[in-house]
Amino acid sequence: MLQRRELAAFRKQLLAWFKQYKRDLPWRRTKDPYRTWLSEIMLQQTRVAAVIPYYERFLERFPDVHALATAPQEEVLRLWSGLGYYSRARNLQRAAQEIVARHDGAFPRTEKEALALPGIGSYTAAAILSIAYGAKHAVLDGNVARVLARIFAVRGDLRDARRWQSLQESADALLAPGSPSDWNQAMMELGATLCTPQSPQCLLCPVTKFCQARKLGLADSIPARRKKRATENIVLAAAVLLDPRGRTLLLPPPTLSKAKATHEQISILVSKLWHFPTIAVRIDPTGELRTRLHEILPASMTKQSLQLEPLPIARHAVTYRAITLRPFRVTMAQLPRIAGAKIIPLADVASPSAHAISNLTRKAARAALAGPAALAARA
Ligand code: SF4
Repeated sequence: MLQRRELAAFRKQLLAWFKQYKRDLPWRRTKDPYRTWLSEIMLQQTRVAAVIPYYERFLERFPDVHALATAPQEEVLRLWSGLGYYSRARNLQRAAQEIVARHDGAFPRTEKEALALPGIGSYTAAAILSIAYGAKHAVLDGNVARVLARIFAVRGDLRDARRWQSLQESADALLAPGSPSDWNQAMMELGATLCTPQSPQCLLCPVTKFCQARKLGLADSIPARRKKRATENIVLAAAVLLDPRGRTLLLPPPTLSKAKATHEQISILVSKLWHFPTIAVRIDPTGELRTRLHEILPASMTKQSLQLEPLPIARHAVTYRAITLRPFRVTMAQLPRIAGAKIIPLADVASPSAHAISNLTRKAARAALAGPAALAARA
């Protein structure tokens, strides 16, 4: 740990650097707990540049916790569409409803109450309480852990429970008690901009003289690389039904309680949102997708063999899953009426934020708009 004098100098230098070089981000222009909370949830696993337009659109539609709590879930998911990790949006709204019901519409001020809300873990609670209320909680996420591990030359897997606990203790000890909000943001900013996973920019770093990893020539090798989970390759086939008016059919978000085991995976892969009829392919995409269509379409529409025209293949990644999506166009004189399903223009499915759909479904829609001609052109 740093001695008292060093600690004071460390804090002073990092805070001065942050004051001078911090990025101008929309959520830094406010201390409103609702906005801070929203930004912290959107920033989980997502780049700043991707979050900014979503953050602004979301606030236009839901300017406060009451607007979010009372909105239809479909509308919340629509505004989140394309940002990924949709459980964040569902939890955000459930938390908004709890805040209205139990906390009079104000984000709670204690860590215990914050942690009791859906979607709030110790990092998020510390970030919101320190930034919005100036509470003395030190944040520890991947970025901050990397900075601390380098400053104190911590070797080994940082996510090991005891090591993580010890990093939290280091973060608590470093926290500048007079300015927890700026302090936490400065630590995160350092990790995001200079002390990056690869090629840290030590020459520009405001705390380089305190950094053990830099002194030992270990800045590039700390933290130790984690073993990556093996990639799971999945092939999906989706049917884009199309009528002469350019409209298509989307099935409603699957409910897991109703889903059979084989459809459970689909439910996860379409992020429990609106989707085309989709199957996980075992051997034969066309035959298996045709069987699925026979299950869901009225018998009168499947008397004649359905023509499945292959469309350009799309690739998609969700955490450790690498998905190959094989869309097929099925042209029909009339789209079937299926309970719960909706019929909308295909172009709407392809455009961002028009409906609560995942990027995977949007890619299938774009392939269908490009049409089989695009496939022939690639051949
Ligand atoms: S000196 Fe380099 S490794 Fe150390 S904290 Fe600064 S950027 Fe990170």
